[in-house]
Amino acid sequence: MSRYWSPIVKDLQPYVPGEQPKLNKLTKLNTNENPYGPSPKALAAMREVLGDGLRLYPDPNADSLRGCIAEYYQLDADQVFVGNGSDEVLAHVFHALFQHGKPLLFPDITYSFYPVYCKLYGIPCEAIPLDEDFAIQVADYTGINGGIIFPNPNAPTGRLLALADIRRLLEVNNETVVVIDEAYVDFGGESAVTLVNDYPNLLVIQTLSKSRSLAGLRVGLAVGHRELIEALERVKNSFNSYPLDRVALAGAEAAIRDEAYFRECCDRVIADREQLRSELNTRGFDVLPSAANFLFCEHRSEAAADIAAALRADGVIVRHFNQRRIDNFLRITVGTVEQNQLLLESLDRFFGA
Ligand SMILES: *Cc1c(COP(=O)(O)O)cnc(C)c1O
Repeated sequence: MSRYWSPIVKDLQPYVPGEQPKLNKLTKLNTNENPYGPSPKALAAMREVLGDGLRLYPDPNADSLRGCIAEYYQLDADQVFVGNGSDEVLAHVFHALFQHGKPLLFPDITYSFYPVYCKLYGIPCEAIPLDEDFAIQVADYTGINGGIIFPNPNAPTGRLLALADIRRLLEVNNETVVVIDEAYVDFGGESAVTLVNDYPNLLVIQTLSKSRSLAGLRVGLAVGHRELIEALERVKNSFNSYPLDRVALAGAEAAIRDEAYFRECCDRVIADREQLRSELNTRGFDVLPSAANFLFCEHRSEAAADIAAALRADGVIVRHFNQRRIDNFLRITVGTVEQNQLLLESLDRFFGA
């Protein structure tokens, strides 16, 4: 702390991202990255823009990428917003679309960036407990609020809420914006994008970081009613006119156009997730149902912290949250078949099998 800090900075409680180890021989199953590389077509498109053109600013409105996303979802381009990772898109949503005088509602167990943004933007919040099975009950979200946000599937639980439930929530909550953060929806969820023309207060957030293997490129997006998008544009153009560089614009568009590669990677992750689930079951874990690229599980006799430490000693990193209700759970990203095997072998050593 320094006397030169502003009062706001003194009070911030920044988000702590999962570890990005410098050693690459580690088996990294802690931050839900895709184990497969980006689309070869996306890589080629990015190489193509590496040249003299980089002396020029990128398109501040990202018209070509927004048009491509609009076409993909059969929407208009003015219903699409893009940003430097969905974390940046989310920050603009907190700034632009939540009513700052009333509490923002989100689950007690959820993406831990939400309370951080509340602090940054001075938004009060109320954590709504998940039920005993870690499911969201939409009936719990009907109180006075300045907005509602949750991931679907939820993180770090992986549990999916049916589209019918989201529709039910939107029917009763039409005074404030409802944000569905679909970071993992491509691994088995049903996107709420199909509802945006029915509900002017619905905003859907997606990212290219997980299902399109581009966490290193930083591209996220929002789709919704054009007036919601206009609010995001107003904040963005008061903050940074060029959040996406030329490389990101080219790579993102090519990645979205390569549907076959995208589907193939997602299908592989889904199949390996179910295989890993049954292997974890066999080893004494209770595993929550998951529609994401990770599994959230609790061992029936060993403590999560001890298991995580033993895995780490073997060079396998998983995520353990020191948080009430989930401190005995591990969140394990689905890796390649080989990575999942290394995880299981390390578990077998720990359990003395
Ligand atoms: C990974 C993740 C994000 C952030 O994605 P980026 O686009 O990489 O910033 C947002 N929300 C949830 C729930 C996530 O898991």
